[in-house]
Amino acid sequence: MILVDSRPKPSGLMSAGGQRGAVRPKRSARTRLALALHSPRTRLALAADSPRTRLDGVQWGRLCSMSLRIGNGFDVHKFSEDPERVLVLGGLRFDGEPGLHGHSDADVITHAVGESLLGAAGLGDLGTHFPDTDERWRGVNSLELLDEIVRMLLAEDWIVVNVDCSVIAERPKLAAHREQMQQILSARVGAPVTIKGRRAEGIGGLGRSEGIACFASALIESALIEPAGSTAPISQVTGT
Ligand SMILES: [Zn+2]
Repeated sequence: MILVDSRPKPSGLMSAGGQRGAVRPKRSARTRLALALHSPRTRLALAADSPRTRLDGVQWGRLCSMSLRIGNGFDVHKFSEDPERVLVLGGLRFDGEPGLHGHSDADVITHAVGESLLGAAGLGDLGTHFPDTDERWRGVNSLELLDEIVRMLLAEDWIVVNVDCSVIAERPKLAAHREQMQQILSARVGAPVTIKGRRAEGIGGLGRSEGIACFASALIESALIEPAGSTAPISQVTGT
């Protein structure tokens, strides 16, 4: 398999081939697989590293590049003194629990997921795209922010492979709600999102139950194929 990363590079990032500032080939010269990759069957075919991929009688073409990147995200919110605040974690409401302080709904898990995805794609951070000085984001459902981040990744031909989260919280107990949160977030990013709960063992502000923190790690991928029937040499398609 030829590994050539032809997407535009955020400053400081190297292409998979080690070339800084590689020229981006015309998008019309190839078929982007980003959306097609949402099909598990397409993923399996690509994972097989076959030079030719045929699915359901459709000749997709020759796989000519595939890239993976990882990102990490962190977020922390303290509990609010406002009794009207609702606790939202992973897109799920926890009625009866004290809410977290924040400009949006303060969904610390969804924010960490978003941060990890933006980091993986080299697209900055949550605060840059959704500043807490902007009234548009006051009280916003953070799942909507996550939707926008996934759209930003797709626009750069990135799709999510998976995201794994570690939540540090003394309360509430997450185990009974983990599956539901995972389902909500997985549906929004189009890939498995896993959540693990941890306590801070009484250490520091988190251990004194003053807030909740979350770490997230994301893997994203992109693949390019030479259109079926193309006679262009591989070097022309990959820009090498
Ligand atoms: Zn946050």
